[in-house]
Amino acid sequence: MNIIFVGPPGAGKGTQAQIVSKTFKIPHISTGEMLRAEMESGSKLGNQVKDVVTSGKLVDDDLMNQIVKERLSKSDATAGFILDGFPRTLNQAKSLDEIMKSMGKKIDLVVYVDVPENVIVERLSARRTCPKCGRNYNMITDPPKEDELCDDCHVPLVTRDDDKPETVKKRYEVYLELTAPVVEYYKQKGVLFTIDGTMKMKDIEKYLIEMIKGRK
Ligand code: AMP
Repeated sequence: MNIIFVGPPGAGKGTQAQIVSKTFKIPHISTGEMLRAEMESGSKLGNQVKDVVTSGKLVDDDLMNQIVKERLSKSDATAGFILDGFPRTLNQAKSLDEIMKSMGKKIDLVVYVDVPENVIVERLSARRTCPKCGRNYNMITDPPKEDELCDDCHVPLVTRDDDKPETVKKRYEVYLELTAPVVEYYKQKGVLFTIDGTMKMKDIEKYLIEMIKGRK
């Protein structure tokens, strides 16, 4: 199955996408994580996007379309994939249609994780991320077992630069302006499935897995 997770920053897309990825054994492709890895490695691409990412703005569409096209052509994505954080603009959604067409594939399902703005701000300020595996924690609702250490990798958790309050506000504005139309685009296509992202994590997980099994 080829699945997209869409929703505002901090909606829980990454966490849910990781669970679905493990359950159905298809890769979790997070464009945000890919960019952060490039930035950390100090690559040319990483340096090129650093200022844009840390300010909460969006990286250029053409560059993102190219990165995703290359990633989707890798062999691990043949049997299916989960895209998280892409497409984020209508231009990217249309480009993805072209990429899918050229590969003889289609998007089977778009999961829209719906969460109101006040919950987003609260969540992002409590979010910590594992710099090694990318797993997210919430220090209030979903803390790690050991103080500030990843349960899986046992390395200290970090606060993402773009989870600072002023950047969170910018990211939400960008979401409303550029990404909300993408949700509408997939709704029109009849592939959108909306999930209430304020439900308990375990309930969302159960609901999602049952729904995907039903569609396979
Ligand atoms: P995320 O982890 O998905 O919240 O992404 C973190 C940041 O990476 C975003 O705020 C953007 O600056 C950048 N980014 C990730 N995915 C995209 C995309 N599809 N298009 C443009 N910028 C992106």
